[in-house]
Amino acid sequence: MKLIVGNWKMHGLTAALSEAEALKTALSATPTEARVALCPPATLVHQMSAVLSGSAIETGGQDCHDKPSGAFTGSISAEMLADAGAGLVILGHSERRAAFGETDAQVADKVQAAVAAGLEPIVCVGETLEQRQAGQAVAVVSAQVAGSLPHGLAERTFAVAYEPVWAIGSGLTPSLEQIAEVHAAIRSALIDRLGEAARRVPILYGGSVKPDNAADILATAEVGGALVGGASLRAEDFLPIIRAA
Ligand code: 13P
Repeated sequence: MKLIVGNWKMHGLTAALSEAEALKTALSATPTEARVALCPPATLVHQMSAVLSGSAIETGGQDCHDKPSGAFTGSISAEMLADAGAGLVILGHSERRAAFGETDAQVADKVQAAVAAGLEPIVCVGETLEQRQAGQAVAVVSAQVAGSLPHGLAERTFAVAYEPVWAIGSGLTPSLEQIAEVHAAIRSALIDRLGEAARRVPILYGGSVKPDNAADILATAEVGGALVGGASLRAEDFLPIIRAA
């Protein structure tokens, strides 16, 4: 089953909950084969999980602190997200790695905290354009996978998302061959860490996934789903991506 996750990033006031409502209505009228989640800004997690209750659509967060509570002004713990109704959390997104200086080691600590709180982390990795042009995409992504996963992680508790930095919000996507190559490398990095059981870890692709390219991307080897930014904000754009799964 493909996992299709919408990352709203820093978009969405309460009025945007109508999009979640519209998605719920459409998917209850015509159910999907896919597993679907929406990750709104933290301010909307509680209300969105209430709006989506009674549907199969899950709610997730976009980041969390690595401690359960404490004097960390402005931060939100994994436990708090779970308490607000989240079941998943995006961690190590390239926007956080770039803008907030998150390192692989910090991401690994957050992954550990998320799993401890009962959340399913979606661990993001991806190369920059310079790294790809230098022929380093596979090496960079493999190292990020190895460094961003805490030791002792079980295969059923998390997902990985491959999001090339240069494909995010740009309208550019790698070729299907490039996606397949990096996803195969991620799978082998996961198997190195977890053994054969790692074949069950979903590896999502993210970066300019749209209604018109979703079917081809989702049919590519080792692509277990999609992490969708801009096209997840409106139900009318997100639905055809879900239907392509
Ligand atoms: P876009 O789909 O807007 O390119 O964003 C991808 C992304 O960063 C999802 O996490």
